[in-house]
Amino acid sequence: MIKMNQILDKRELAPGIKEMVIYNPNIASKVKAGQFIVVRVCEEGERIPLNVVDWDGGRGTLKIVFQEVGVSTYKLGKLGIGDLIMDVVGPLGNPSEISLFGTVICVGEGVRISAIYPVARELKKAGNKVISIIGAKSKELLIYMEEMRGVSDELRITTDDGSEGRRGLVSDELRDILESGLKIDRIVIVGSAMTMKMCTEVTKPYHIKTIASLNPIMICGMGMCGACRVEVAGKTRFTCIEGPEFDAHQVNFDVLMMRLNAYKTEEQMALKRFLEGRG
Ligand code: FAD
Ligand code: MG
Repeated sequence: MIKMNQILDKRELAPGIKEMVIYNPNIASKVKAGQFIVVRVCEEGERIPLNVVDWDGGRGTLKIVFQEVGVSTYKLGKLGIGDLIMDVVGPLGNPSEISLFGTVICVGEGVRISAIYPVARELKKAGNKVISIIGAKSKELLIYMEEMRGVSDELRITTDDGSEGRRGLVSDELRDILESGLKIDRIVIVGSAMTMKMCTEVTKPYHIKTIASLNPIMICGMGMCGACRVEVAGKTRFTCIEGPEFDAHQVNFDVLMMRLNAYKTEEQMALKRFLEGRG
């Protein structure tokens, strides 16, 4: 008998990047592109948000992709097929706005290429011409290439070291497309805060509606704790219930980055302890 929150499949997509299929029919029947879940791996575990990258309402399954960066993601990565994740809450956040915009650029960077995938897929289904740009540090860290090719009219690839596609950043490729004069109606970016900031600076002079899916530290995911507050158009907004997508031209990315680094020392100490088997 399959149990709630049981891991039905697990794959390593790249070193330190894992994909899991989880059984949770409640979430699988409701989730939409752009939404996320909050998971707690074990009794004493912390809450961490993860995007839902794919789902199958019929089978009651959802797919997540995560990078092992600290204690909670390492703990999750240690679970295997058949194991149970203690808590899975969702779907959370607002779905992506999906409509017929015209020509849309979807940008995905690093582990978050997986999070732009359902958005690109739904935008394509809605009739848009989808140009996707995906990028990673190197070829071995490039994930979801074939998935993205399958939902894009055009796929452009960048790597920092040039081991696949163009040598450079996704923002370089984005700049080239905009400079070519091609008419672009909307841009959606999902990546690290720095990448989203750089892409946003590229699109600003062109006045093209640009959407960024923000990734602040988030705890409750339901608008109560306030950990995920960000500054948008000079106002404080809660990413979990008001986002995660915001008009990128209005986002203060410097505040986002500062707050993401607020607990770096404690996180590094906790990871060291964990990797040494001390907690
Ligand atoms: P830690 O060592 O605790 O933290 C490493 C870094 O991650 C920190 O410096 C901080 O910048 C950030 N972080 C720490 N705690 C949190 C937290 N509770 N919430 C958010 N960021 C945190 N990552 C993926 O790999 N795949 C995803 O699909 C994905 N989707 C996300 C969706 C949303 C809406 C948000 C807000 C974040 C998402 N993230 C995703 C980031 C992921 O939640 C963090 O990498 C994870 O929480 C780190 O936890 P840790 O204990 O392993 O690492
Ligand atoms: Mg942590």
